[in-house]
Amino acid sequence: MIPIAIDKERLYASLNELGEIGAYVDAQSGVRGVNRLALTAADGEGRRHVVAKMRAAKLEVTVDRIGNVYGRRTGRDDQLRPVMMGSHIDSVPTAGRFDGCLGVLGALEVVRTLDDAKIETMRPVVVAFFTDEEGSRFGTDMLGSAVATGRLALGDAYALRDRDGATVRDELAKLGFLGEADVRLTPPHAYLECHIEQGPILRASEMDIGVVTGVQSISWHELTIAGKSAHAGTTPMPMRADAGVAAARINLHLREMIASGRYGRDMRATMGAISPSPGLVNIVPGRVTATVDLRNPDDSFMRAAETDLLAFYDEAARAENVRIAWRQTARTPCVPFDTGLQAHIERCAGARGLAHRRIVSGAGHDAQEMAHITRAAMIFVPGENDGISHNPRELSTPEQCANGVNVLLDVLSLLADEKDQGAS
Ligand SMILES: [Zn+2]
Repeated sequence: MIPIAIDKERLYASLNELGEIGAYVDAQSGVRGVNRLALTAADGEGRRHVVAKMRAAKLEVTVDRIGNVYGRRTGRDDQLRPVMMGSHIDSVPTAGRFDGCLGVLGALEVVRTLDDAKIETMRPVVVAFFTDEEGSRFGTDMLGSAVATGRLALGDAYALRDRDGATVRDELAKLGFLGEADVRLTPPHAYLECHIEQGPILRASEMDIGVVTGVQSISWHELTIAGKSAHAGTTPMPMRADAGVAAARINLHLREMIASGRYGRDMRATMGAISPSPGLVNIVPGRVTATVDLRNPDDSFMRAAETDLLAFYDEAARAENVRIAWRQTARTPCVPFDTGLQAHIERCAGARGLAHRRIVSGAGHDAQEMAHITRAAMIFVPGENDGISHNPRELSTPEQCANGVNVLLDVLSLLADEKDQGAS
C-alpha cells in the first residue's frame, strides 16, 4: 500500500500566512520576525485566523474557560476517546514562524490530508492550540495546558498579571476567547505534538526526525551574595569580602561539575544573570545577585548536582568571606514520554526512509503537561542556522517541516484506528 502524504506546499504556505500576523522587521538582521505575545491583539488575530481554518476544514470548534481551542473531527465510533494533536500559536516577542505553529498547522494539514483521501478514522481526532505556552507575558509557561490537565488551578491562572497589571481573565474576555467549555480535559486516547527542535543537534547529525524521549529536569536558583563594598585602591586584598569573586567561583564550579562527568553526559549549567552592586570600576562589589540554571535528563543526576552545588555555595562563602543566600525559583522533574508511542514514531519514520534518532527536549512543551493525563509523545524536526529559535532567524525548510508532519500523519492514523486504550 502506498502511504498517503501531506501537501508540503500547502503546509508551508499556511505557516507563512500565520507568520504574517504580528510580523515585524528585525532591526539588526533585516529578517521578518513574529510578535504574537499571548493574549495581545496580534495573538487574538492569530487565534481567529486558525479558528477560521479549523472551521473551513469542517472541525467542530470549542473554546474552554482558559482560552484553549479544540477542533474536533468526527470518528466512525464517535463515543471513543479522541486522538489529540496540538501545540501553541502564541510567541515570544522576537519569534520566528515555526515554534508551536508547526504543531498546530501540521495537525490541521493532517486533517486536510485525511479529508482529501476520504479517510474516516475510527476515533475522533482533535486539533488543539493551548493558551500562553511561552509564559513571556504573564510569567507562567504552559499556562493553558497546565490548567487543562489540572496542574494549575483556573482561578490562579486567571489572576496572573502582566507588567501593566492586566489579568489573564480580562485579556481573554477582551479577545473573545473566554470560552465556556469545561477547562478540565477528559484524557484523550493519546497526544502527539510535532515541533521544531529549537537546537542544533538534528541538523548537525543530518537527521530528519527526532524521536523525543522526554523533557529534561530544570532547576533554577537565585543567589544573593553579600560581601563588603570597599575602595579598589586602598583595601588590601586579604581584607576584602568580594561578592563578585564568589559569583565567579560558582560560575567556574558549574563548568567543573560538567567536566567531572559525575552528573551524566547531558547536564547543562548556566549563570545567565550576574549583577554586581554598586557596579563601578573602582569599588569592590559588596553585593551580587546571580542566577543558576541547571538542566539534566536524569532526575537522580539532577538531585546529586543540586547537592554538590549547595555544598559549594558554603565553600565559596568561606573562601571569599561573604554570605550566600539562595532561593529556588523553578524546579521541574524529568517528564518521560510514552515508550510505545516513541516506537511508533521510529517505525513510521523508518518506513518513510527518514533518518531518525532519539533526543531529549531541552525546552518545555505542552506535551509535558499532557503526559500527566495520557500517553504523549513529540516529533522534532531540524532547524537551519544552528537550530536558532525564539529569534526571527528561526527556520525549518519545507522539506524538514513536511517530514515531521508526514510522520505525525502516520502515527495519528495508527492511533486513531486503535481499538483498546493501547496499553504500552
Ligand atoms: Zn513551542
